[in-house]
Amino acid sequence: MAEVLFKKVAFIGIGLIGSSMARRMAQDGMAEEFVGCARSEGTRTKAVELGLVSRAVEDPAEAVAHADLVVIATPIGSYGTIAESITLALKPGAIVTDVGSVKQSVVKAVAPHMPKDVHFVPGHPIAGTENSGPEAGFPELFDGRWTILTPSETTNDEAVDEIATLWRQMGAMVDIMTPEHHDRVLAITSHLPHLIAYTIVGTATDLEDDLRQEVMKYSASGFRDFTRIAASDPVMWRDIFLNNREATLEILQRFSEDLTAMQRAIRRSEGDALEEAFARTRAIRRGIIDAKQAE
Ligand code: NAP
Repeated sequence: MAEVLFKKVAFIGIGLIGSSMARRMAQDGMAEEFVGCARSEGTRTKAVELGLVSRAVEDPAEAVAHADLVVIATPIGSYGTIAESITLALKPGAIVTDVGSVKQSVVKAVAPHMPKDVHFVPGHPIAGTENSGPEAGFPELFDGRWTILTPSETTNDEAVDEIATLWRQMGAMVDIMTPEHHDRVLAITSHLPHLIAYTIVGTATDLEDDLRQEVMKYSASGFRDFTRIAASDPVMWRDIFLNNREATLEILQRFSEDLTAMQRAIRRSEGDALEEAFARTRAIRRGIIDAKQAE
């Protein structure tokens, strides 16, 4: 059993990430009471049926009343409206955190609505799957993964420590950085790869019929891994690209230049250049395995 950190926790959004947190916190006794909030009746009923929360409501303000910890875990396009709607209902001294995949726009959308006596600690667990909804979560999701916190210089240190402790108790390792730095790092490690996967799978879908059949049949040769990434939630990813525009466009520009260089090397039959580039990337994969972020 871990330390009891909070009496009452409210999850605004109880899908893959929210429900994984609720499962782990309940399993290890990190909080006493869990309340959920979701838009649809179906999700609310499911969350209660699964035992993730004792109560699930439609109104975010009702969910956060008397909560010591509020976790916003909805698609980031909804953050501003949610933050505005909970302002008056937040308990003095409460901590509000989130799990959104972009941080500058989240801070911009949420921070102005936070009362002076409430502490906002933005966060992002670098863990997930392509599945969504309350059934998709599992308590081990964060084991051995990083969570990045992006508090401002004025954020209460104790609140930051409490959120860091929460993530460590949920199995994660914690790093702290600025929202700007977070968004640049994630643009290359997560956002660009998703954009490439969505594009490749889209390109294959547009091929003429007979070729498309072959794509399905022989997908194990590389395409299959892209289809898993490209099966990720469309609303969540729409919001990520709309909210991390600058960093994604900047990294996309560099990627296009590197792709053009590869194209040229193939056209000119520059085998040495190709081999050298591929040998470098193989070393990166080994580094990720050594860092225990892949098997
Ligand atoms: P998800 O499984 O689709 O769950 C989203 C939850 O939010 C659902 O319970 C949904 O309820 C609820 N919701 C949506 N809009 C709402 C609104 N306006 N008001 C109240 N509830 C609302 O999504 P997820 O994968 O957990 O992602 C949630 C957040 O985590 C996103 O901000 C994402 O950027 C971040 N994140 C995701 C991953 C990942 O791999 N999936 C990884 C790290 C961080 P309904 O079903 O009723 O709509």
